[in-house]
Amino acid sequence: INLEEADAEGSLISRSPIVTVMGHVDHGKTSLLDFIRKANVISGEAGGITQHIGAYEVKVDEDKSITFLDTPGHEAFTAMRARGAKVTDVAIIVIAADDTVMPQTTEAINHALAANLPMVFAFNKMDKPGANPDKIREQLSAMNILVEEWGGKYQTQEISAKSGMNIDKLLEKVSLEAELLELKANPNKRAVGTVIEAQLDKGRGYVATVLVEAGTLRIGDPILAGSYSGRVKALYNERGARVDEVGPSQPVQVLGFAGAPQAGDRFNGVESEPEARDIANKRLQLQREQGLRTQKH
Ligand code: GDP
Repeated sequence: INLEEADAEGSLISRSPIVTVMGHVDHGKTSLLDFIRKANVISGEAGGITQHIGAYEVKVDEDKSITFLDTPGHEAFTAMRARGAKVTDVAIIVIAADDTVMPQTTEAINHALAANLPMVFAFNKMDKPGANPDKIREQLSAMNILVEEWGGKYQTQEISAKSGMNIDKLLEKVSLEAELLELKANPNKRAVGTVIEAQLDKGRGYVATVLVEAGTLRIGDPILAGSYSGRVKALYNERGARVDEVGPSQPVQVLGFAGAPQAGDRFNGVESEPEARDIANKRLQLQREQGLRTQKH
């Protein structure tokens, strides 16, 4: 069954890009995401984001935002990839400028190339005396990745995730890259998206962070993800504030699932709760049968 509603002509409007940060361990992914989350670099919005819900949205200027997948350790991201969920529009590849292109850097680049994902390179740790971004540019060009300043197509930005130096410029470049994609979605239909993470929260019940990709999710909507259904009891944004509805490219914490769906599960707002429960039960049964089959082998 196809749970997603078709888009009527003229229903698509532009949406913000969804961005992942990838790179070798210790090159500064977490530091970069933390800095952006806490500082809200450009908008200067009061009270940065304190919550860690797996994704967050920041304003780049008056009418431009970026949604970051904020999954340190990147288990969630790996899980999503393994489940075939493609939620990212642009990848930031972080490379420590005092180090070299490392195995996970190459892996990240190859993944982005295979997924046809535009890349922006962040040369990090520029505050360190040993930083040598030209060495990195050279190593990249040896991999056929030619950076813009050397006549290629890949934008780069020298940054320090520690001091925050040039992170505003990095976000502008990401925004520019995203504009070329002319990303659009229809907000006027039942929500569809991807589960970023989910867990049982003492006191609140099952809480799932969902990235809405199209449509609008509202309080009271019947919902379905993986083998769990429910009805939206409450929605929280990354600032911990209750919201009534969320639209395309917005991350949100959803309360009301009967269980914890898995990272990478498809998320759907559905017509009715019985329909949602019915599909969830069928999926659960299918899972059990498959589980039994694997056990026998
Ligand atoms: P991740 O494994 O890619 O998420 O890397 P982390 O963000 O955890 O950073 C690894 C280490 O490098 C930590 O000790 C950070 O404090 C440090 N680090 C990250 N960015 C910078 C930077 O711009 N300058 C300096 N001097 N250290 C940094």
